[in-house]
Amino acid sequence: MRAARLHAARDVRVEEVATPAPAEGQVLVRVRAVAICPSDWRLYADGNAGGAPLQEPIIQGHEFAGDVVALGPDVAGPPVGTRVGVEPSWHCDKCDMCAQGRFNICRNIVFPSFPPHDGALAEYIACPVINVQALPDHVSYAEGALVEPLGVAMHAVRLADPKPDDRVVILGAGAIGLFALSLLKLAGIKRVTVVEPVEGRRELAGRLGASGTAPFYKKLLEDGHGDIVIECSGESGATEQALEVADHGGKVVAVGIPRPETVCFEAFVPRRKELTLVFSRRSRDTLADALELVSSGDIPVREMPMRQFSLDRIPEAMEATAARPGDMLRAIVEP
Ligand SMILES: [Zn+2]
Ligand SMILES: [Zn+2]
Repeated sequence: MRAARLHAARDVRVEEVATPAPAEGQVLVRVRAVAICPSDWRLYADGNAGGAPLQEPIIQGHEFAGDVVALGPDVAGPPVGTRVGVEPSWHCDKCDMCAQGRFNICRNIVFPSFPPHDGALAEYIACPVINVQALPDHVSYAEGALVEPLGVAMHAVRLADPKPDDRVVILGAGAIGLFALSLLKLAGIKRVTVVEPVEGRRELAGRLGASGTAPFYKKLLEDGHGDIVIECSGESGATEQALEVADHGGKVVAVGIPRPETVCFEAFVPRRKELTLVFSRRSRDTLADALELVSSGDIPVREMPMRQFSLDRIPEAMEATAARPGDMLRAIVEP
């Protein structure tokens, strides 16, 4: 099969590699759409992501959808030909975290696309059957790929656990920040302010129902603080800003992966306000709910501007992701 393999920072090569065979408990998926996540760009640009360095060539891509084309020896379905979305987090179902249902922090987690595990920027990928679910006919492959970042936003909002009258602030109107906004509006949270420097993304937040938007967080310190702050930007300094914006007794949920990884803040800021800081890790048990929300139109995935790229144009797709344009939230690669 054709696969895009990252050999070193900014050195991606489309190569012919062996097509994986579905093992027990797995299905083989013909990949139709892969959305490029800013975390993919991090690994692409730095040769390192979230403390995981690139040691040998790897196939990137974890937000994807495609068609089931073969079943593992013990797998009864879904039938070959089923279009599927995927929760790309293979857990062991044996450890103490899995026993508690905390599959996203399974001690033996395999996350396709992060070293050393291959991802979906290829024609085929083998996936555990428990991690795939059928896409409704009217949901496109690209929309199906976005079910992963929607799941990440859903997990973060669940951890935030807002009350209807809470003032919620979202830092960063990328796909996850905007999905978090849509989920909060759907849950009846009236006051959701989005901080985003890029004008086009701020406008999108307004269209999706933000009660307020601001280009910089300092503006919020004048206008009133947040009971809950969801940090989705991953910008350096954003954790510190989130702690500053959170009001007394408030909660900060950290979703964005900070770059650089070392985060500094003055301890008196969260200490005097007795803040709670929660770190959110990817998603768990969100695939079915996310697909339902996309299918029903409750989460307007179609409003998320996307741009299509072929497998040979991955460098362009990566750099477009890094540029954070106002008119594109996800680059979609069609292998
Ligand atoms: Zn992602
Ligand atoms: Zn486990």
